[in-house]
Amino acid sequence: MNCVFCEIIARQRPGDIVYEDEHVVAFRDVNPQAPVHILIVPREHIVGPSDVDGAHEQIAGHLVAVAAQVARQEGIAADGYRLVVNQGSNGGQSVFHMHVHLLGGRRMRWPPG
Ligand code: AMP
Repeated sequence: MNCVFCEIIARQRPGDIVYEDEHVVAFRDVNPQAPVHILIVPREHIVGPSDVDGAHEQIAGHLVAVAAQVARQEGIAADGYRLVVNQGSNGGQSVFHMHVHLLGGRRMRWPPG
């Protein structure tokens, strides 16, 4: 399988990793859309939110818990931040390995583009 995020997780491709544990890895987005832009990614190749079934519910919750932890680590928790999960083409997903975007360090706009 040719997956950029699997390669970063396997250390076959460079990635600026800021957190990792048994289940997830978090690294800086190569094309940041905010002063802090980090992707939280399950080690397991889950394609996207549509693939989250009973077996993956715990890992999906863990992605959010880790995002909150990394936000504290990055010093953006007090001012707030945005978590984004894109699904499929209308959702704007471009990498088909599920990830939570952690965006912070500036005021976010609504509605999103
Ligand atoms: P999405 O459009 O939600 O699928 O988000 C994919 C994100 O992955 C984009 O924000 C890209 O900038 C980011 N990305 C793609 N390749 C890499 C990479 N090699 N290292 C870090 N981030 C990447």
